[in-house]
Amino acid sequence: MPAATTRHRVPAQPATDYDVMIVGAGSAGLSAALVLGRCLRPVLVCDGGAPRNRPSPAVQGFLTRDGTHPEELIRLGREQLAPYKSVEVREARVTNIEVFKRYFRLTLEGSTGHTTTYTTRKVLLATGVDDELPPLDGMRDLWGRGVLHCPYCHGWEVRNKPLAVYGRHKSVTGLALLVSRWSSDVIVCTDGWGGLSPNARRRLRRQGIALKEDEMMCLEGTQEGDLQHLVFKSGEKLARQAVFIHAHQHQRSPLAEQLGCRFTEKGAIVIDKDQQSSVPGVYAAGDITPGTQQALLAAAKGSQAAICINETLTREECPR
Ligand SMILES: Cc1cc2nc3c(=O)[nH]c(=O)nc-3n(C[C@H](O)[C@H](O)[C@H](O)COP(=O)(O)OP(=O)(O)OC[C@H]3O[C@@H](n4cnc5c(N)ncnc54)[C@H](O)[C@@H]3O)c2cc1C
Repeated sequence: MPAATTRHRVPAQPATDYDVMIVGAGSAGLSAALVLGRCLRPVLVCDGGAPRNRPSPAVQGFLTRDGTHPEELIRLGREQLAPYKSVEVREARVTNIEVFKRYFRLTLEGSTGHTTTYTTRKVLLATGVDDELPPLDGMRDLWGRGVLHCPYCHGWEVRNKPLAVYGRHKSVTGLALLVSRWSSDVIVCTDGWGGLSPNARRRLRRQGIALKEDEMMCLEGTQEGDLQHLVFKSGEKLARQAVFIHAHQHQRSPLAEQLGCRFTEKGAIVIDKDQQSSVPGVYAAGDITPGTQQALLAAAKGSQAAICINETLTREECPR
């Protein structure tokens, strides 16, 4: 056999349907698919529904896409995958992942409830998180417009406006101090006893941030989702243009837990420098991993994971 052929001979690999299956088609998943498509890798992207920021009118702070509607960002991401024929995107939720020695078998459920299974050499989880909103009437209705979670995403839009920060304990102080960069009219509403230390109260006071510990009844806003008032049990109404909250969150999908992945104390999937989880061959990217959560950062993490996956696959195909 000629030397050149020998050099390029690919050792036997498991005969799987795909090299990589990506679970989730948000910023992280689509970005990973783009990089893997450019590596000529057979990839299936499973799109289980809307991204986390769907209730928001725009994605802010995304280089070249500042102000784009979240659905438009995803549409563009999918459109730009079209030239890469080895990449397929399918509307389906992954309901199960079985681990074998050198490959995985994923079960997909379509909108009709029909299930199919496919095998793959590597899995990338990009399934996002769900936000847990405080149980106050109006929170959910105004979420993403009048109720905001991140001043980096939305602060500029509400700069110099009357703002509130809702929450208790340490986290509300930190968020309020941060928000005061965008407006000098900020009030902290703790909805009952706030548990703020004397030092926290002093820091708020020094920054000109008012504190109101009265119990609240609801948030009032428009049909479009804009906030008008914070309504207190006393009947008092406080006019505000937006309220920031520190929402707890959880993994949107139980897959990582079912696979036995390790989690941080905050519930993110533990990954190594190659974005691989504690389960070999299972990678993770985007909001489900530790660190700052933004669409552009999720896309970057997806890209990073894709490069690491391609390099691992290449090493497996070209052993020393
Ligand atoms: C209200 C709001 C506004 C925001 N505004 C901004 C902003 O202006 N700028 C900014 O940079 N960031 C913003 N963010 C943060 C941004 O939305 C996230 O950082 C980003 O969406 C994370 O991308 P991701 O791909 O990790 O997850 P997601 O975008 O949430 O995508 C995860 C995808 O996985 C899918 N999925 C889940 N489980 C399964 C399964 N079992 N099978 C198949 N698919 C599955 C989901 O349906 C979803 O499509 C905002 C967040 C919120 C909540």
